[in-house]
Amino acid sequence: MAVTERLYYSDSHLIEFDARVVDVTERVSGWAAIVLDRTAFYPTGGGQPSDTGTLNGARVVECIDDGDNGVLHVVQGMMPSRGAVVQGRVDWSRRLDHMQQHTGQHILSQAFVNLFNAATKSFRVLETSCEIDVDLNNPATEIIERAVELANNVVWEDRAIEIRNVTSAEAAELPLRKESARDGELRLIEIEGFDLTPCGGTHAYRTGEVGIIAVRSWERAKGLTRIEFVAGTRALADYRKANRSAREVAALFSTGRDDAPHVAAQMVEEHKELNRRIRVLEELAAEVEAEKLLADASQGVVVQVFNGRDAESLKKLAHALIAKPGVVALLASRDKDTARLVFARSADALGDMSVLMREACAMLDGRGGGKPELAQGGGKNVAKLDSALTHALTLLSHDS
Ligand SMILES: [Zn+2]
Repeated sequence: MAVTERLYYSDSHLIEFDARVVDVTERVSGWAAIVLDRTAFYPTGGGQPSDTGTLNGARVVECIDDGDNGVLHVVQGMMPSRGAVVQGRVDWSRRLDHMQQHTGQHILSQAFVNLFNAATKSFRVLETSCEIDVDLNNPATEIIERAVELANNVVWEDRAIEIRNVTSAEAAELPLRKESARDGELRLIEIEGFDLTPCGGTHAYRTGEVGIIAVRSWERAKGLTRIEFVAGTRALADYRKANRSAREVAALFSTGRDDAPHVAAQMVEEHKELNRRIRVLEELAAEVEAEKLLADASQGVVVQVFNGRDAESLKKLAHALIAKPGVVALLASRDKDTARLVFARSADALGDMSVLMREACAMLDGRGGGKPELAQGGGKNVAKLDSALTHALTLLSHDS
């Protein structure tokens, strides 16, 4: 005979109970691990997290299944003596949430078997959603949606859910959705006319209690399809969150929630087109700017420091400058705490830009390099930018 009678086996809605303390041990954490002669607390197992609640008002933070040794109630702030009678109370909102997810899983898993002969290989209740790994090769949207639709019809038909205790010989004759790893007596959960499976978890009285089942996402993982779903209160919370996000996005585009994807797609297209036009205009602007800089340059050498100009823009300007013969361009930009450099020369001009760049970057505590005609680099020592350019210019005059 097992130490702890598991009251949750026969009634998943029982949350208040009296029990006698069978054993108490102190854990490393200083908290008590209490074994009772009976409990309504569900311990972690089968993909379903533990219940929480109170014993004589003290917090039950977790319950652990210790097999035939009973259920360990890890309790903060109490150390009762053996034989004492305690009052237990299970947190109902957490229990209801777990029942909705767990029962929802039975229904959704059977829907995939029923429609696509795709078995569920594992199940987990996560923090805000749940996962099942289903043996499904082609998780097209339509396939997933058909299973979700069937599952919700079963929820709304409000079918009865019965617990049946059978011997393993009896179980062998029954069309169970999955085999049990246990020997001896089996606890079967039967959803009227839909699903029959061995399980030790807590389930709704009727399928209607699950409320709704919604799939959030799915992906192929390790040869299976991992499906993330939410049921009951989690589905409502998820809907609220999704609706808020969708409305916030729609507001950014000054449109309604359902029009937002279309409007956003249009914007993305426009954005790409604008970028293409900006690139063309930038090249034109660089040509004009290059003309002006060359008009002021002495002997074709342009030395110029800009503020907040990115490397791409510096390179564009450099290319526009060296399109003319006999030009050397030593360009730089201060951008917050970074100095950027682009050195370039026309094919017929003298000087090794990569050497100049290495020397200049060394002064900026940075790095740079490239080819004799074009080099780029940068550094963090922005204060030295002017002297780095002067140094590069000096080196250039030695070269020529
Ligand atoms: Zn179950």
